[in-house]
Amino acid sequence: MTAVEQMLAPAQREMIREELLRSLGKLERSLKAAGAAARPRDLEQDTVGRLSRVEALQNAGFTKNLEAREQAQLEQIVAALHRLEDGSYGACNGCGAPIPFERLSIFPETLACSACTRGC
Ligand SMILES: [Zn+2]
Repeated sequence: MTAVEQMLAPAQREMIREELLRSLGKLERSLKAAGAAARPRDLEQDTVGRLSRVEALQNAGFTKNLEAREQAQLEQIVAALHRLEDGSYGACNGCGAPIPFERLSIFPETLACSACTRGC
């Protein structure tokens, strides 16, 4: 057993895993909904006339950005679940120190402690 594994009690690991799985489900639903909402029909209904064509295109771009961000978050969560499995979860990528459970419970997919995140 490594020092990193000893940092988190089994109950804490279980909490983190549940939180990650919950976020994963939420993101998957959101991405599915975004895919449905991106259909042209929605743009035509309300926006044409009130929004210029350029604004409509910008709106579509915004949706795309949001999707890309959610997709990236989804990948981070999946990576965090893998780290939970292989025992490397909870160590800071920057300094190697254990990330406090208080931080992990708020940002379970985080890769770095708050000091290293600020330094980035
Ligand atoms: Zn650090």
